[in-house]
This record gives sequence, structure tokens and C-alpha cells, in this order.
Amino acid sequence: MPTTPCHAFLGLGSNKGESERLLAVARDRIARIPQTTLVAASSVYRTQPQLYADQPWFWNQVVRVQTALSPGELLAATQTIEAELGRNRCQEERFGPRTMDIDILMFGDLQVQDEVLTIPHPRLVERAFMLVPLLELEPQAILPDGTVLREALDHLSYTWSNDQIWQAN
Ligand code: ADP
Ligand code: MG
Repeated sequence: MPTTPCHAFLGLGSNKGESERLLAVARDRIARIPQTTLVAASSVYRTQPQLYADQPWFWNQVVRVQTALSPGELLAATQTIEAELGRNRCQEERFGPRTMDIDILMFGDLQVQDEVLTIPHPRLVERAFMLVPLLELEPQAILPDGTVLREALDHLSYTWSNDQIWQAN
């Protein structure tokens, strides 16, 4: 039986290399993932690094896709794109500089929790750099557990102006 296509939100981030161009390439590759359509893209935001402040500011963007892939298949496809864009997990610090990070923020109404995948993304509700662009695309977004993302953002201590987002830890 064919799977019903699902709307998913992907969070893109880069702070190493030519980040603005890398975002454009990532969008282009995402649009070419099999059984997947790129439906919309948020503005690009410049965001303050979290955890390790001593690294360049990030370029972040959220895209909405419609896909007939499973979450695991979508993760495999996005990890291939990360690797093609120069990402090498073995040589980077966790939360440190990276050429391209693509996270699955939401996948329809699905909740997933296994060794490789947690959906919704476990840090989505803490991160203004994910919430602001996601809410730009879907102002009424609600997590499967009923969390209203606009309210989650209102609880965070952050500043946002001219597509720049400051949020210290
Ligand atoms: P992070 O994005 O947390 O900075 P990585 O991009 O290196 O770190 O991802 C580490 C692992 O997180 C991945 O190998 C992947 O298996 C796992 N992971 C769990 N949930 C998700 C998700 N929703 N989206 C993307 N990766 C996820
Ligand atoms: Mg990631």
C-alpha cells in the first residue's frame, strides 16, 4: 500500500565554510531527495552559537518538505547531504563548527524515540534558532504532545532583530 506523504520540517545550520552558499546547495539537494518535495523555506537567520560561544555565528534556516520516505530513510538522505557538503562527524566537536547540520525537527504527527532518531527533535523547544524560522513557516505549529511552539518560544530568553537571533545559554 502506498504511504501517505507526510509534512516534515528540517532545520539547517552551518557556521563553517561558505555557509550561505552551503545552505543553498543543501536546499537544492533536499529538493532532489527521492519521493520528497521541498514545499517552503524560511528566511535565513544569523544566530548566536550556543554552548560553545567561541565559534562563528551560525546561518540557520528551516525548510518544509513533503515526503513519502520513512523518518529513518529521510535521516539517511539528509546525512548523505551533510557528508557531501563536507561534514565529517569524526573530526568535529559536538555542538562545534560544522559545514552543514540537517536535523529533523518534526515529521507529521509522528513521535519517534530509538537509538538513531528522536522526533520531535529533543532540543527544538529550547532553541530560538529553530523555533523562529519554523514558526515563520507554520505560525500555529503544535507538537504531537500538545506543546504550542509559539508559547515555547515565548518562554525562552532571546532577542531577535533583522533576521539575527541572540540566545546565550
Ligand atoms: P547535533 O545535531 O545534535 O548537533 P549531529 O548532527 O552530529 O548532532 O547528530 C548526532 C546524531 O543525532 C545523529 O547521528 C542522529 O542519529 C541523531 N538524531 C537523533 N534525533 C535526530 C533528529 N531528529 N534529527 C537528526 N538527527 C537526529
Ligand atoms: Mg544534527
